[in-house]
Amino acid sequence: MSYKPETLAIHAGQPVESDTLSRAVPVYRTSSFLFKSAKHGADLFALRELGNIYARLMNPTNDVLEQRIAALEGGVGALSLASGTSAIQYALLNILKGGDEFVTANNLYGGTYTMFDAILPNYGITARFTPVNDFAAVEAAINEKTRAIYIEVIGNPSLDVADIDRYSEIARKHHLPLVVDSTFTPPTLFRPIDHGADVVIHSLTKWIGGHGTGIGGIVIDAGKFDWTDPKFALYNEPDGGYHGLRFGHDLGSLQQLAYILRMRTVLLRNLGATLSPDSAWNFIQGVETLPLRTQRHSENALKVARFLKNHPKVAWVRYPGLEDDPSYPLAARYLKNGFGGMVVFGHKGGYEEAVRVIDNIQLFSHLVNVGDAKSLIAHPASTTHSQLSEEALLKGGITPDLLRLSIGLEHVDDIIAALDEVL
Ligand SMILES: *Cc1c(COP(=O)(O)O)cnc(C)c1O
Repeated sequence: MSYKPETLAIHAGQPVESDTLSRAVPVYRTSSFLFKSAKHGADLFALRELGNIYARLMNPTNDVLEQRIAALEGGVGALSLASGTSAIQYALLNILKGGDEFVTANNLYGGTYTMFDAILPNYGITARFTPVNDFAAVEAAINEKTRAIYIEVIGNPSLDVADIDRYSEIARKHHLPLVVDSTFTPPTLFRPIDHGADVVIHSLTKWIGGHGTGIGGIVIDAGKFDWTDPKFALYNEPDGGYHGLRFGHDLGSLQQLAYILRMRTVLLRNLGATLSPDSAWNFIQGVETLPLRTQRHSENALKVARFLKNHPKVAWVRYPGLEDDPSYPLAARYLKNGFGGMVVFGHKGGYEEAVRVIDNIQLFSHLVNVGDAKSLIAHPASTTHSQLSEEALLKGGITPDLLRLSIGLEHVDDIIAALDEVL
């Protein structure tokens, strides 16, 4: 049975329960699950059988969400977590230990940059930052301590598209897992696993949830990486976090799930960034309409980008779907179903005029989220990045005139009218 994405988004991962016959996915508000017998309990703990134990580790509501997103991404399994940020943290802590390094693109989501630059080093993990798509720099940054390569499909702040085939080629050559934050490109727009990604991450908070109503994250395992390579100590040495199990070797018929099973049974079980089942249910509602929404977000954003491109008050526009955008050749190759909902542009009047737009625009909400059904606007230089010096801002590409739009699902004529009026 190989359903298309529109069908998977509505049905994947949900068995209709034979006792309640509930059509919608039920929310399991319970902390714990009964063992049928001592043997049943023992089998669950030893991973001889998969099943519910305690809701920090698994919950049938979250299970539907995980299976559904794994099906949409073409992965073998997934783990939902309390935020996109904890998904990124767990994705890396499930590969790296103190003394290890990873190579990352530098055009990252702000919180991710801080995690890599200021927090992971406290635990002996070093991130080597490289300009996106600078493959000579990536090769030069890889050494005998490198254990992963990390990229975002569409990065900040310029919406540059990563050449993922090239990244996965380098990852394969050095036998490193390629970890991809695909938040800006939900699986109905792009599937990183089809292009060699080993681990895919989403902030569910954004387009997958789609309505600005909750915080969550998810990690998807492609199930293709060979973790028996001895350089991955977490998979080859007896795991103190799970009574000496060697996750690269001892899982029997579940061996293909080594990465995502370890994340659940070692990291989630003992670090505890659990997604509540109420939030999981909320995100499932989002997934059901994801294919329709990503299409409309992309159509609206392309029209907005074209409108801005021709506006006399606009200095520059970045949108991967504009034919003359520097990212267009890669976007056209990878993003066959639309270019996503993010547009950034600069106002000719610089900082003052950008702030005036923020304070006077109608319809758009001034806040820092993205991926809502509502159109959103942000001015990084006066908010998220206001602590940085002008020099640091320019180095990060955050020019004072830069306005970031997350284009929503309102009628595009109304969105464009709101921009036209304020400009
Ligand atoms: C929002 C976001 C995150 C962090 O997700 P949270 O759910 O806010 O923790 C990570 N990466 C990208 C690309 C994001 O947009």
